[in-house]
Amino acid sequence: GLAVSLRGVTKVYDSGVAALGPLDLDVRKGEFVSLLGPSGCGKSTALRLIAGLGAPTSGTVGIAQSTSGTRAGHSIGFVFQEPTLMPWATVRENVRLPLKLSHAQPAGANTRVGEALAQVGLTEFAGAYPRELSGGMKMRASLARALVTDPDILLMDEPFAALDEITRFRLNNDLLALWRNLRKTVIFVTHSVFESVYLSQRVIVMTARPGRIGAEFRIDAPEP
Ligand code: ADP
Ligand code: ADP
Repeated sequence: GLAVSLRGVTKVYDSGVAALGPLDLDVRKGEFVSLLGPSGCGKSTALRLIAGLGAPTSGTVGIAQSTSGTRAGHSIGFVFQEPTLMPWATVRENVRLPLKLSHAQPAGANTRVGEALAQVGLTEFAGAYPRELSGGMKMRASLARALVTDPDILLMDEPFAALDEITRFRLNNDLLALWRNLRKTVIFVTHSVFESVYLSQRVIVMTARPGRIGAEFRIDAPEP
């Protein structure tokens, strides 16, 4: 089935900027899709609309009901380029935050936080503060925070763009391993052709603003 289905989606900001569309996009459940395109073509806008952060000017944004039994509002995890961790809180506390906001039971929350930290390889750093972490580890913490609610869909907006090349490649491989284990739907915005081809099953190339689908490439990634 489909995880995400956009039909005729456009976004014109109050400033008058036509940022996006019309965009028609279907993403299958469990698919890993990259969005590639020039700066300002509306990639972040598209992710925000999918996440429900703002309404489209026209068109419809369809998101499949959560299958994990959690509330529908928590079936999407979002990872930004800036890790946006709270500096006064430990990694563990940062990762726990979305569960606090969703009023999860404390016992279950501890288990989930532990699982999410293990999934990104941060178990040893649970008690560290963000300032003690490298850029790559901060990104892992952000990823754990996005995964802690066990979302069906993971939206990633140029998550690794600020990292050095080696760290970025490590995170690419770890993300790929994670995706093969968890089979979440991933929509990954990047400026890197290499990264898009390396990670995703399908690369969508957007036109200049207002972004539409300019080309689409299916990558024959071997099934694990
Ligand atoms: P991309 O992610 O592809 O770089 P964005 O979605 O961030 O593109 O932006 C698309 C266009 O919309 C740009 O011209 C940007 O300046 C504009 N834009 C983005 N967010 C807003 C906003 N909140 N208000 C007004 N204009 C915006
Ligand atoms: P990116 O290119 O990584 O998407 P941007 O620099 O375009 O990031 O946007 C970063 C933030 O600034 C976003 O939250 C976006 O909504 C906001 N923004 C971008 N362009 C504008 C704009 N012209 N007016 C108001 N807000 C904007």
